[in-house]
Amino acid sequence: MNSRAENFYAVWREKSRAAGALRDEDSVPPEKLLQAVWQHQRLRRGELKTADGKSVRVLHPGFISAEGGPDFRGAVLQFDNEKPVSGDVEIDLQANGWRAHGHDVNPNFKTVILHVLWDGTPASGTARTNSFATLSLKNFLDAPLAELALTLENESGLPENLRGKCSAPLQTLDETQLSELLHAAAKVRFQNKAAMILARAKHSGWEQALWENLFRALGYKHNVWPMLNLAETKLRWKHGAESAFAIQSRLLGISGLLPTELTRSQKSSDTFLRHAWDLWWRDRDEFSGCTLPRATWKFHGLRPANHPQRRLALAAHWLAAGNVAAKIEAWITAQAKGGGEGEKLLSSLHEIFQVERDEFWSWHWTFNSTRMIKPQPLLGAARVTDLAVNVVLPWLWIRAKEGGNEKIQREVERRFFAWPAAEDNSVLKLARQRLLGTSNARMLKSAAAQQGLMQIVRDFCEHSNAICADCRFPELVHTLKNNVQS
Ligand code: SF4
Repeated sequence: MNSRAENFYAVWREKSRAAGALRDEDSVPPEKLLQAVWQHQRLRRGELKTADGKSVRVLHPGFISAEGGPDFRGAVLQFDNEKPVSGDVEIDLQANGWRAHGHDVNPNFKTVILHVLWDGTPASGTARTNSFATLSLKNFLDAPLAELALTLENESGLPENLRGKCSAPLQTLDETQLSELLHAAAKVRFQNKAAMILARAKHSGWEQALWENLFRALGYKHNVWPMLNLAETKLRWKHGAESAFAIQSRLLGISGLLPTELTRSQKSSDTFLRHAWDLWWRDRDEFSGCTLPRATWKFHGLRPANHPQRRLALAAHWLAAGNVAAKIEAWITAQAKGGGEGEKLLSSLHEIFQVERDEFWSWHWTFNSTRMIKPQPLLGAARVTDLAVNVVLPWLWIRAKEGGNEKIQREVERRFFAWPAAEDNSVLKLARQRLLGTSNARMLKSAAAQQGLMQIVRDFCEHSNAICADCRFPELVHTLKNNVQS
């Protein structure tokens, strides 16, 4: 095979990349390249030494984080001959990045055990005030920077040697066996959700349990708890508020998310805010006991479509309609129309939760955003799948089980396993690469398969570490294979 020098394509590629700019030995690599070097461990691994002279053995570099916080989560490192430790790794070009990027005051960075730099020693006082070590990579690369830039630039995803120990046995399963395994795990997850709903329903009734779980789902990761808090006091604040706007104003007031200042730049936002304040002004003393501080909410990394103000508007429309629970009950007995099975299920449930039009929120992402040219729905199809697998189906199933209605139970299970796959997320992405050895999202064809994989992560990966220490899952997969064969 031709060497790179003879290969015209390699020459084209080299010429068209910024890598050439890294030839100079004083070049500073982009932070993304430094992350790739760390992830793929393109280092002389046996020689690594921290700024205070300790040797570092990287037992696992950690998993690249897609959700803010430190760059790599769950690394396993051994300093000198000490016991291996697990924690996070942050990568910055220089030591002053720690303070300049606000990591010193960000609680998400408390778990950092290693600050990896391109060059330099810890900023004065940094190493002393934090419990992490510092490692400069500049003198430990296993190849020139320009070469690393060329080889690593397209290497997205988890390197093969960082796959989990279960990856090999899982690859020996055929499609049916893998699907059975994922479905069995999904069933456990589904029944756990149903059990949680039942526990709540015993205290507060079926409909209240439904609302609490719908609100939780609207919290979408970051804001689950404040949303749940709001739902828990629903009987109190819902009383006397009938229209969607009246409920919205009250919810915005109670949640602490009603802005106290007009925007002065968006006329329609200011009109909305004036009207909302007209209502909340009269209510706020009465509801002071259930009002949440704004600090309970998290906004960092939120897409505008998931902003809690918008989610509360959606919930207000559902509450104003007053028949969501009845519609869900009718849905499970009705035949869904049009399209394939999964598509039909999705669109028929979407119809129940979709809001026709909100005069303000259909046209604005947030109070500060300008009016959109085209109205945007308050609920996208991706969220409908979340509502289905996390709330609606487990709620219907456990109600049917408690009521002894096996026919409905079977129909709920059938719909759960037929439900099309949800939007991809960072947990699934990592799990697919680590356990199934693929970055192809289409590998998981149904929402149930995705749920099953997430359950395995919860049951096994979360009880082990990045090097799969003491994880029994690979062994269990082997037994599954052997049982089928015998
Ligand atoms: S911890 Fe267990 S389940 Fe997770 S990747 Fe490792 S072997 Fe697989």
